Amino acid sequence: MPFTPLASRPHDHSRCVSHALAEAETLCARQGLRLTALRKRVLELVWQSHKPLGAYDILGVLSEEDGRRAAPPTVYRALDFLLENGLVHRIASLNAFVGCNQPEHAHQGQFLICRHCHAAIELEQAAISQAIIASAQDVGFSVESQTVEVVGLCAGCQGAA
Ligand SMILES: [Zn+2]
Ligand SMILES: [Zn+2]
Ligand SMILES: [Zn+2]
Repeated sequence: MPFTPLASRPHDHSRCVSHALAEAETLCARQGLRLTALRKRVLELVWQSHKPLGAYDILGVLSEEDGRRAAPPTVYRALDFLLENGLVHRIASLNAFVGCNQPEHAHQGQFLICRHCHAAIELEQAAISQAIIASAQDVGFSVESQTVEVVGLCAGCQGAA
């Protein structure tokens, strides 16, 4: 049996959320970054599930919350902050964001995206990044960033199909 990641099986997701928020606090404290209430709330919203969440969804929730009439540019800036500091990744094919559970060390995002439940499972395979860099070098291309997005069915959805 292959290892089934949390994202594609039932689990106590509140632990994922508290772990992610604690990691963010630690990382920001160490790097002297300000995890403002809004940045933290946006991160928490991105982490509400393992499915990538669009900026409009985040804005929608925030606008319903009392006393937090966050203007879109403020929310986009909060997302930029989270992206720049590796706390979330952007999934271009879905135009959405997903939380990173390894924000402590720099890495390139590699995602398996389930077309059924939309969960995004992050892989961290240095071998994949290196293969991309080497292949790019072969054609004289200098890689600046790379996000690999692979579409398919997760373990949970294959069982349900
Ligand atoms: Zn979870
Ligand atoms: Zn990551
Ligand atoms: Zn799935």
